[in-house]
Amino acid sequence: MAAFAQTQPRLMRTLPSDALRQIQWRFADRYDLQMLVQSTRSVARGTVAHMVAAGERNNHEWTPAKHAMLEAFDRAGITAAFMEPGEGGFIEGPKNLALSLAAFELAWVDGGAATASLAGFLALAPIHERGTEEQSRHYKTLAAPPQPGEHRRPWRGAFVLTEPIPYVGVDTGMLSGKVRISRWRDGQEPWLQVDKRGRFITNIAFANFVTAAVNSDDERIKGTCIVILEETDEGVFDPGTATKKLVHQLSSTGDPIFSLKVPAGRIVGGYTIQDGVLVPNYNHAEIIEAVFRRTRVPVGLMTAAKLLSAIEPVIRYQRGRFRGADGTRPGSVRYEQGIQQREDALHRLVDVWATGEAAASLGFAAARLFDELDPIEKQKTAILKERGVAGGRAELKALRASELRAIELLHLGPEDPRRAELAGDPLVQFVLKDAEANVLCPATKLWNTGHGANMMREAVSLMGGYGITEDCPGFLASKWMDAQLEATYEGPEAVQRRQMSVTMTAEVFLAEFRVWTKEMRHVASTHPGTGACTLASAMQMWTWTLNSLQTATDADGAKLYHGQRQGVTFAMADALCWLLASRCQILDVLALEAHGACDSVEAEDLAGTVQFFSDLCHTQTAQAAGEVSRICAELVFG
Ligand SMILES: Cc1cc2nc3c(=O)[nH]c(=O)nc-3n(C[C@H](O)[C@H](O)[C@H](O)COP(=O)(O)OP(=O)(O)OC[C@H]3O[C@@H](n4cnc5c(N)ncnc54)[C@H](O)[C@@H]3O)c2cc1C
Repeated sequence: MAAFAQTQPRLMRTLPSDALRQIQWRFADRYDLQMLVQSTRSVARGTVAHMVAAGERNNHEWTPAKHAMLEAFDRAGITAAFMEPGEGGFIEGPKNLALSLAAFELAWVDGGAATASLAGFLALAPIHERGTEEQSRHYKTLAAPPQPGEHRRPWRGAFVLTEPIPYVGVDTGMLSGKVRISRWRDGQEPWLQVDKRGRFITNIAFANFVTAAVNSDDERIKGTCIVILEETDEGVFDPGTATKKLVHQLSSTGDPIFSLKVPAGRIVGGYTIQDGVLVPNYNHAEIIEAVFRRTRVPVGLMTAAKLLSAIEPVIRYQRGRFRGADGTRPGSVRYEQGIQQREDALHRLVDVWATGEAAASLGFAAARLFDELDPIEKQKTAILKERGVAGGRAELKALRASELRAIELLHLGPEDPRRAELAGDPLVQFVLKDAEANVLCPATKLWNTGHGANMMREAVSLMGGYGITEDCPGFLASKWMDAQLEATYEGPEAVQRRQMSVTMTAEVFLAEFRVWTKEMRHVASTHPGTGACTLASAMQMWTWTLNSLQTATDADGAKLYHGQRQGVTFAMADALCWLLASRCQILDVLALEAHGACDSVEAEDLAGTVQFFSDLCHTQTAQAAGEVSRICAELVFG
């Protein structure tokens, strides 16, 4: 019997259950997140799916049905997921994983629905990240859904950065939005005149407030800032015309116009008066950096959800393709497997699946990392403040010693007595996690959405003609097109590549990457079926190529690795994404194997699922290694 058991192939008998996903994506111990997933799913697969099927995507305008969707979000606890318990929320502590899971569930059905929910958080994010305590509590409390017995409508917000051409787009520094002093009486709070036009602004049809980026047009105001505008402020608060989108039609987008008078207390993060000049505590660039580095992760996970959501419809369609035809009898391969009996169809589906798994693993790893980073970042700020260091260059200088300690820690052996001291230093912990997050966030946004959009086309093609109809199960064609917006908003691919080309060459990150390479070599010896050996070799090749490009020059003596040389730096960023995604995918399978056995319900199916997921890792690492080899070869020999 034992011998028989050993020779039986270990098969995955069903699509992965929620319990397995909770273990794999590490929220098995978070009952609050599991509840959020379930309630979000009921809205996604109920309200949202019905709206899509009823043709609500065929309208650019904001309709009563779309508005009802927001109320469904409120009732399901999705809106409150952003708030602290004291502000009307129910999740304690950092919420990056929570918001990512909610976005994942909504995007499984419709990207526009996910965007409508995320855009509300994006409007609040500047206030949450850099607002004064009072601003944060005030606006988050207003935006929280009413508690039982409370009779009020929650405030909805929009984030207004992008402007009509030729101003803010990819280049977020080219601001045309202006702020001037409108009235400033002695000893009283100054009043501001804010003029801003937006382009492609999500949630604008129904926004009660916006957070808008503006530049000083007055010598009595220094630099740029983000300012909160409310619909009842004196002046013009015009949502403008609706954008005729081909994607995400369940969200509202338009080109608003604002010309309003507001008190200076609306400047996000507050201000000081220095020599008669109003100086905002944060400029707009500092705020959007803190915001986007978190909010881009759920966007990447939206595309991952689409890829994984395509698997079941494709399997069902392809398997049943010939049923009912003359001579196709139940039990025959043609009847049971349909198109799936053909190698090409099967392999292409495996590629879509493996990409979806890798994208989800990368995105959820990034979301968890930000949950870990958030409290450490606060601790770092408090420590530096105590030492009299306040942000900017002074902070970078002060953290240099911690970076060296972090690199030292990464080089220490497991038994080294200095390990505990260095690992326990909160500033060392901060620089390690910060360096990782600086790469993982843009990598998630870049690879998941960019490569993900390409792979969504593959998924659509597997459904044949059905794939490009409105009737296609899983709305795959809409998801393919929607993925292109996910690759564009909150900074298109060029922005992510530009960021990665700087952060991936940071000393601390490269030291971490070398440790990860060794780690994959070790995994290769314990779990050779995951493709970890191939991945480790590809990681080594990437490091070698980067070293070579950083020291090499072209025929004219100009450096090859240089900020202006996007042909080199962007390609290396793309290559790195493949490696990071594969690594996270393998680590998730190891976690599933290690912890799944403790789950009595899942233990039975565990071996088959681990085997199947390991095979997907192997497929993905082969693709990743191929991509990295191609890119590196082109750069070194091209
Ligand atoms: C449906 C939708 C909703 C949106 N919601 C919001 C919102 O709520 N709030 C908000 O503020 N904005 C929003 N946006 C705007 C969005 O963030 C921008 O469209 C995006 O950042 C790109 O800017 P752009 O369209 O001006 O592209 P452009 O700046 O014109 O760039 C065009 C292309 O040129 C390339 N490119 C540009 N600069 C460079 C460079 N330096 N190096 C290399 N390549 C470059 C890029 O590949 C880019 O894709 C939304 C957009 C859409 C379509």
